[in-house]
Amino acid sequence: MERKLEPAVGRRRFIVAAVATPLILASEGSAPKKVFAATPSCGNDLTPPQTAGPFFKPRSPRRITLIDPGMQGDKFSVVGRVLTTSCQPVSEALIDFWHCDANGQYDNRGYRFRGHQFCDDEGRFSLETMLPGIYPGRTRHIHVIVQAANHRPLTTQLYFPGEALNERDWIFDPRLLMETAFAGGQRKGTFDFVLDLG
Ligand code: FE
Repeated sequence: MERKLEPAVGRRRFIVAAVATPLILASEGSAPKKVFAATPSCGNDLTPPQTAGPFFKPRSPRRITLIDPGMQGDKFSVVGRVLTTSCQPVSEALIDFWHCDANGQYDNRGYRFRGHQFCDDEGRFSLETMLPGIYPGRTRHIHVIVQAANHRPLTTQLYFPGEALNERDWIFDPRLLMETAFAGGQRKGTFDFVLDLG
């Protein structure tokens, strides 16, 4: 697969972070401060890989919203973090999302419902899109490739809880279920990816 990271940018930011870290620690005094108050049991919850399927397209546009003007349907958003097995954030991780439209169709000519983004310094990502439809043989899902700089990409899929077809889809894996809730009249999901960078 063609490499899509931007190593020059990542290296520069890494150097900035490495220089800045001692200053932050010094300003917090001698007591070590935990960066994240609540962390999952990352070590036992490696995000499992799944097939990319036949519809991945390289060189997707860099964007956090896949919603184009005039799109009809139900909006959906998902947020989360990319973490290591020791629950440390993976800053600048690349995440490439793609999914079918409400009618179960992938855009294989253009880049509708395709886009990649980079996590922030705390490993956070945020995707805004429309609720994918379903197509024969599959339950509702979102394809994703997650890649930490200088590591192999993880290709996997995200699933929606409460879907009747989950039980009949042989690719479905409950470990890849998002947590979803309705807020502001819109379905929203959360999911944390855990990568083995050892
Ligand atoms: Fe698919």
